[in-house]
Amino acid sequence: MKRVVARGSKWRNSLRTRHMVDREITDEAMSASVRRIFWTAPIMAVGNFLASLGFWVQDEPTAAIEILWRELVIGANFLVSVISIGVWALAWIMRRREVNAKVQKVFVFVVAIYVLAMGLGITLIDHLVIPNIAPLLLCVTIVGTFYHIPPRSSLLVFVLSFIAFRFSFVFLTSLSTAVLSSTLVNGFVAHVLGFALSLLNWQHFRRTKLQEKTIREQQELLTQMAYHDSLTNLPNRRYLDELVEREVSLVQRHQVDSCLIMCDIDDFKDVNDTFGHAIGDDLLCEFSALLRDKMREGNTLVRLGGEEFVILAPHTTLEQGIALAERLRKMVEAHAFTVDDKTLQITACFGVAELRGTEGFRDYYQQADKALYEAKRQGKNRVVAAPSDMAG
Ligand code: GH3
Ligand code: MG
Ligand code: MG
Repeated sequence: MKRVVARGSKWRNSLRTRHMVDREITDEAMSASVRRIFWTAPIMAVGNFLASLGFWVQDEPTAAIEILWRELVIGANFLVSVISIGVWALAWIMRRREVNAKVQKVFVFVVAIYVLAMGLGITLIDHLVIPNIAPLLLCVTIVGTFYHIPPRSSLLVFVLSFIAFRFSFVFLTSLSTAVLSSTLVNGFVAHVLGFALSLLNWQHFRRTKLQEKTIREQQELLTQMAYHDSLTNLPNRRYLDELVEREVSLVQRHQVDSCLIMCDIDDFKDVNDTFGHAIGDDLLCEFSALLRDKMREGNTLVRLGGEEFVILAPHTTLEQGIALAERLRKMVEAHAFTVDDKTLQITACFGVAELRGTEGFRDYYQQADKALYEAKRQGKNRVVAAPSDMAG
């Protein structure tokens, strides 16, 4: 008993989830359907016009009922052809104006009803001379396969269509009982078929959309992974390369000031050796967070690898770059890092290079790196700027 209840609620939950997903993708389904209406309406217009023309060029029948049938079928096909052009024009306007999802939904619903009504109308006309539901079957197939209609709306459309179909035959008193029952059964099967096609079509649309969503999310994740360092979550070397390359070409074109600051923690190996690699990792994270908090908007902090970091500071002169590095150096020196209940004091060196736009972007890494090396050589915990004659 418990198992049956559990299975029941599981089934209800899965149905609720499906319904939620359906609601999420309905807007997309509607604009995709408007797109399909846009492409199929002219085909229908031409098809019905040719049908109308085809009946018109044939010899006029002699029997009165056949004359009436011919006139009605020519007129109906011609009318459908004209309305289809109107539908096409409306779909065109909707695509251009990007109208909201609600209007699109009403439009798709009305077009589906119109297509089914057209099938029913021509089927009824045909019944004047021949018991034939081919036009209805064709229209049911169009609605079931061409438009993406959510299951509930689709059920409503096909039920309404079947009710209209059922009651319209009440007026065709000339049909024999056998023909009438055959037509009604065939009509019922056609509607069930249409609804089944519509469900399958929706399932396929939903699966495709979910797959697209998963691919999009995975691509975003891959991009995040490709451009970020997994330990500190800071942008990485690949990100920096692209950024600095763009910045150098900006400097070349607009002669703006820009600085590249390279930073390396002093004696970091000792931290690892004394406290272990895990504490070293925590320290790197805290160090990154400290520097990131002090970044001005527009500045980018990157982890180059190990205990080396780079700051790209656009709109910054060499003097301003040196001042920024000096502020950061003092802040690191004064900060008490707390990792795993231990308080650590560290220092760092900074090498500052000005982007001049005269060399390739990698040359500026080298200049900043040389300045950093010089800071280490001079005794660590200091800022050194790359001399301006380093260029060229
Ligand atoms: P200097 O003052 O000259 O920069 O000395 P240093 O010890 O900081 O520099 P060195 O290049 O000798 O050592 C860097 C150390 O950083 C060695 C390496 O084990 C450690 N390291 C590199 N990457 C990581 C990491 O991701 N996590 C941890 N915990 N340590 C790292
Ligand atoms: Mg170091
Ligand atoms: Mg180093």
